[in-house]
Amino acid sequence: MRYAVLSDIHANLPALQRVLEDAGERDIQRTIVCGDIVGYGAEPNECCDLIRELDAVVVRGNHDEAAVRPGKEQWFTAAAKACILWTREVLREEHLDFLRELQPARQIPGAHVCHGSLPDPDLYTTTPAEAMRSLAVMEEQLCFVGHTHCAEWYIYRNDNRPPSQHPRPEGGVFELADNRMYVINPGGLGQPRDGNSQASYAIWDQEAKTVEIRRLSYDILAAQNKILDAGLPVNMAERLRYGI
Ligand code: ZN
Repeated sequence: MRYAVLSDIHANLPALQRVLEDAGERDIQRTIVCGDIVGYGAEPNECCDLIRELDAVVVRGNHDEAAVRPGKEQWFTAAAKACILWTREVLREEHLDFLRELQPARQIPGAHVCHGSLPDPDLYTTTPAEAMRSLAVMEEQLCFVGHTHCAEWYIYRNDNRPPSQHPRPEGGVFELADNRMYVINPGGLGQPRDGNSQASYAIWDQEAKTVEIRRLSYDILAAQNKILDAGLPVNMAERLRYGI
């Protein structure tokens, strides 16, 4: 089985279309989504349409939750809050229902899927110690996370020491060893924050035992213009150019 692993789409339709086009040429059987389909960007309905058509393995991100649970946005920055209030207004009822039904974590043969961290979807995984929180409760060899919008992986050698951390803002491939465990972040598809403005996603090949992080140029200007046209905070458009 070959999976495409997406995270933090954030209503960026041009980025999502580019990634799905690329994945469509790569013999993918199933798609995994580590949460945050909506929030920040200007096309939440269109992104929900595409993800739902895929019949993907999807978990709920904090923005997905805030879109359907008033009060959750109190933890957000002012700009993120403005975006989620707008998102709540424009999302179609069927998509609100879809987001409401998402689980915080899913387990499939070989991998866990969650948003920030396996024990708590709202926690960020940015350090080996933080990755250890997921590793401590994992039953599968892999755990896919998102939330930080930074492409990277952590390798745990089953020795009770913190895993090694491998940021990969330029993308890359690695081989999965049977006696190791991994926490893998495919990067922020629709709002990268690792200094690379290209859209990010991963391909997990179960038979070949590899994970590849791919970075793709897309029409950033189109995504920016839609954000500005929607009246969303200008910063949400600007940051896309810099990948921050
Ligand atoms: Zn996010």
